[in-house]
Amino acid sequence: MLPPLAARGVHAVLLHGLRGVGKKSLALDFATALLCAAPQADGHACGQCEECRLTAGFSHPDLRWVLPQALAEDLLPPAQEDEPPTSDSAAEPGEGGGRGTKASREIRVEQVRALSDFLGIAAYRGGRRLVVLAPAEAMNATAANTLLKMLEEPPPATVFVLVADELDDVLPTIRSRCVLVQVPVPEPKPCLQWLAEQGVAEPAAALALASGGPLAALASAAHESLPAETSAALYRLLERGPALTAAQVAAGVGRDPPVPACVRLMQCWAFDLIQYRARECVRYHPQREASISKLAASARSDGLWRWVDALGVASAAREHPLNARLVIESLLTGYIDVF
Ligand SMILES: [Zn+2]
Repeated sequence: MLPPLAARGVHAVLLHGLRGVGKKSLALDFATALLCAAPQADGHACGQCEECRLTAGFSHPDLRWVLPQALAEDLLPPAQEDEPPTSDSAAEPGEGGGRGTKASREIRVEQVRALSDFLGIAAYRGGRRLVVLAPAEAMNATAANTLLKMLEEPPPATVFVLVADELDDVLPTIRSRCVLVQVPVPEPKPCLQWLAEQGVAEPAAALALASGGPLAALASAAHESLPAETSAALYRLLERGPALTAAQVAAGVGRDPPVPACVRLMQCWAFDLIQYRARECVRYHPQREASISKLAASARSDGLWRWVDALGVASAAREHPLNARLVIESLLTGYIDVF
């Protein structure tokens, strides 16, 4: 576990692993354990002391979060965003700057430089100081080099916790200064149960789409989920396969279907048909495997691939102001030609 690392005098840890497996939560648990005044025998925080209460409330003065503005808005209560929104002129030149009013997805060099004030004074509460920086790959080269100098000459009693989805995108010199900890993808069974408890309608599909990361699955389900009646109507049409008619399509598509989510559902359906033909297994619709297997047997390869192409075009064009109902109807009519 992580706390023993700090006991060994490690001053920088880089947690890496698939997006949405809970790395930031783990970083927070780690920070809480290191700041706790009465940690348990197994190294975990007590959850009761003043330090734990401050950390849980995102108000511990010796814990500093460094996040892109967009992430800080999601993660931290407003008072704790240590970087107030700045004008674009203050942003670093480069891929993250100059995005109009959109919150930046980049960790700017100013944010990293601001750490030197925090690190230049003794810990307020007399214990360790913690810096949690996520995601590490959101630093541009200038920001990363500024951080590197701090990692090369670490201030006493300070632990840096870096988080990265893509280890390869983190500067090698930074990686080499950190103890790398790979956060594994959790077992699917408890994830599926948890997603169902969170109200995700198709937990298996959501988890598969997120490659097994439960938090990523929940986030994408929240952003892209279809109303239950829309997805039920789509599945009813898709499951008819060769028996589907244009009249049923016209009657079955609602007035204003959310195009991206509908297209995504159909792409997953097409993927499973192809997967079943090739390997007799499904990825996104384990609960509909019986239907998929029947349909896969009567689908034609060329028709299936034409439908996949059409879905790809619709997916790429889905930001365009097209008539949503017509788009979905036309894709479902294309599905009839698969058989
Ligand atoms: Zn505690």
